[in-house]
Amino acid sequence: MNYPNLINSKLPNIGTTIFTVMSKLAADHKAINLSQGFPDFSCNEELISLVNNYMKSGNNQYAPMAGLIGLREILSEKTEVLYGAKYDPESEITITSGATQAIYTAIAAIIREGDEVIVFEPAYDCYQPAIALNGGKTIYMQLQAPDYSIDWEKVKKRINHHTKMIIINTPHNPTGSVMSSDDMIMLEKLIKGTDIVIISDEVYEHIIFDNRQHQSVARFPILAERSFIISSFGKTFHATGWKIGYCVAPKNLMTEFRKVHQFLVFSANTPIQFALADFLKQKNNYLELGAFYQQKRDYFIRAINTSRFELIPSAGTYFQLLNYKNMSMEKDTDYAIRLTKEFGIASIPISVFYHGQEDNQVLRFCFAKKEETLEKAAQILNRI
Ligand code: PMP
Ligand code: GLN
Repeated sequence: MNYPNLINSKLPNIGTTIFTVMSKLAADHKAINLSQGFPDFSCNEELISLVNNYMKSGNNQYAPMAGLIGLREILSEKTEVLYGAKYDPESEITITSGATQAIYTAIAAIIREGDEVIVFEPAYDCYQPAIALNGGKTIYMQLQAPDYSIDWEKVKKRINHHTKMIIINTPHNPTGSVMSSDDMIMLEKLIKGTDIVIISDEVYEHIIFDNRQHQSVARFPILAERSFIISSFGKTFHATGWKIGYCVAPKNLMTEFRKVHQFLVFSANTPIQFALADFLKQKNNYLELGAFYQQKRDYFIRAINTSRFELIPSAGTYFQLLNYKNMSMEKDTDYAIRLTKEFGIASIPISVFYHGQEDNQVLRFCFAKKEETLEKAAQILNRI
């Protein structure tokens, strides 16, 4: 079709996300897909029945704009029990159509033309486009090798009167690193007395290993008073396709958040909210998630112990980084494509999470898979 050139792209450098690209490549080549992060096992049958029952009993119309109050109440209680912070379910918690929507909404609510937002690389891919669409400027700071930690002295030097927001993510996608309470205390010192707002992406809050404690910003009052905390039921309940999550924030921030939320989506899926409100009452449904995935991580690590890949320890999330620098000189993007096409295993190249495509020859593998899938994947990896 011929068409006139009507637009000057607002996101000229953005293509299709790597997750979609690699999942399609995996499907096209019938490769084992450890690229995009999603479980290959079913979510809990009881949760499915609950959703089904709520649909059948007629709960299929719009939910309240901020989400079902019963679900917000139980999230308020969970946040208080786990992190010691009290959020008012009426005015400080909103149910969203996934964490991605919550992140976009928080950025759109706060960021104006010229505002600077500090983002740590490698960074999950939805932050920068949301900042750009709202006129903000992303200030990239590098997580430090070998453990992908934050150099707070460097952050301090980058903060100026344009800095409006810092986005943190713990446990961290794609690296599997986690922030410590010392990190949080350093961050508190940096932002105290400024008007900087924080987005704390905590979608993997329950997927943390080796007896570590998740350091939610909710635990740190000086951080909590200026933070949007974002989580995702997709991660917690093995249902990434349901696209449902939530945001908690102090009332003044949440008021602005909802002004955007109500015109972006208005409200999230009703029957799933009813079901989640019931399902969350059994705390083990989320408290046992860390142990569940730790077992998968350890199974995967054991299964690939004869491979030539070098392991970068994962402290949380359901991702394992593997370095192949002793095996090939190829660019990580080329290598990931070749492994998919020639060996039948798909992963995510880490350079795509750097604005400058920094290539450390590292690939990300998702271990949210059945043991048989991990076993097959390991056999391939051991052969390479
Ligand atoms: N943040 C991070 C760090 C993620 O890994 C993901 C997705 N896996 C999201 C946000 C988005 O979550 P959702 O699927 O609920 O939109
Ligand atoms: N968060 C998932 C990952 O990191 C992907 C989500 C998506 O495909 N947008 O793999």
